[in-house]
Amino acid sequence: MLLAIRLKALLKTCVLFINNLPRKHFFALILLFVFLLIISFIPSQKLRKKTIERQLVLPPMSTTAENYAIAEPIAAVKEVYSEVFPDFSGNREVQIEIKTGDTLSEIFQQEGLSAALLQELLEEDKQYLRLSNLLPGQKVKLLINPENKLLVLKVVIDLANTLTFTLKDDQYISLLEIKKGEWRNSVFQGSVTGSFYLDAKQAGLSAGQIQQISGALQDKFDFNRQFRLGDTFHILVSKQYIDGEYSFDSEVLAILIKTRLKNYSAFLYEDGRYYDQNGLGLNKAYRRSPLIKRYRISSPFNLRRLHPITKRISPHNGTDFAAPTGTKVYSIGDGIVVRAGYHPAAGNYIVIKHGRKYTSRYLHLSKIYVHKGQRVTMDTLIAKTGNTGRSTGAHLHYELHVYDRPVDAMKARLPLSKEVPRKQIKTFMQRRDLFLKEMGETSI
Ligand SMILES: [Zn+2]
Repeated sequence: MLLAIRLKALLKTCVLFINNLPRKHFFALILLFVFLLIISFIPSQKLRKKTIERQLVLPPMSTTAENYAIAEPIAAVKEVYSEVFPDFSGNREVQIEIKTGDTLSEIFQQEGLSAALLQELLEEDKQYLRLSNLLPGQKVKLLINPENKLLVLKVVIDLANTLTFTLKDDQYISLLEIKKGEWRNSVFQGSVTGSFYLDAKQAGLSAGQIQQISGALQDKFDFNRQFRLGDTFHILVSKQYIDGEYSFDSEVLAILIKTRLKNYSAFLYEDGRYYDQNGLGLNKAYRRSPLIKRYRISSPFNLRRLHPITKRISPHNGTDFAAPTGTKVYSIGDGIVVRAGYHPAAGNYIVIKHGRKYTSRYLHLSKIYVHKGQRVTMDTLIAKTGNTGRSTGAHLHYELHVYDRPVDAMKARLPLSKEVPRKQIKTFMQRRDLFLKEMGETSI
């Protein structure tokens, strides 16, 4: 009832308004109404059908992984720092890229850090042997508080390894982070036109890989004399990539040499040794001790040993032999010298890599007879024992690492026999066939 009255009143007002309008205005109003009516009936189909097409074209550079990697390290460093020190305002961050001749002691001096502090860190570094010989291109990062106390020392050794020392309860805790990366296989092949070395280089193999190839078959094939024009070589190499970049860590997995008279082959087993197609060892097995004669073990491998000087738990990662200075030291097996030099705590030292699985270390030496990059065999005289570095008497400290972890060398399972053990022969054959398939070969 109320609504009807209201509507009636509204209509009345409208009529009154129109009636009171001048004639010209009245017609204009009618025209506007008709125009709006016509417009509302025009079909809008055309408009609806038209789709909007838009293409986003990114420049190819902006999508590569490398571009993202640039921003990564700084963020990663901050993350680690902030974990240990949630509030690091007032702390100073120093980042240095090592140039030829730079040493850590110089860097410490420049930053007003003491030599005693460096000694403490070097003692902790005895288990890594990374701080004494910094190489050009490596990055060192320091975090120092306003009282000039070192809170964090970080050394980016290479693409795969980063070593960090962090101050915690007045003690530096060390951590070696190892990125596993991705191993990718590739085949290199070619025919011999003159020198195998040059032809292999031409095919894309590195000097180290060529050394590994000739070393694997050294007792079977003379690479300098036995090749004839037209003979071919087929090599399967595994290369490590970290964040898409080649880390320069590689392994020769399989070798096939085809000559007019005979084929020669070598296959790398997981123990780091090369075997022929039947599982017969191509080179000598490992030795348990790097010394020929037996010597008393003055300190055995012990992960929970109390350090004789600091009285803190500090693992003894090796076996100490009480051998007099000048005793001959031999490599425990075939391999490549990856590091050799002097370390204030370890003295003269050698690190040998025997394939991907085993690594051996020899410390406190008086003389070193090998150099970095050199290929050694089980018979190679590599050093003489001594008493260098922080050592309390003449002895040999010998370490064995399996996949980068120290193990008791006197108890570890080492391939001591010449051929693949009977129990593992099936695994070996499967691996061999897989390698052959990857090389596109069906038989040897
Ligand atoms: Zn020792």
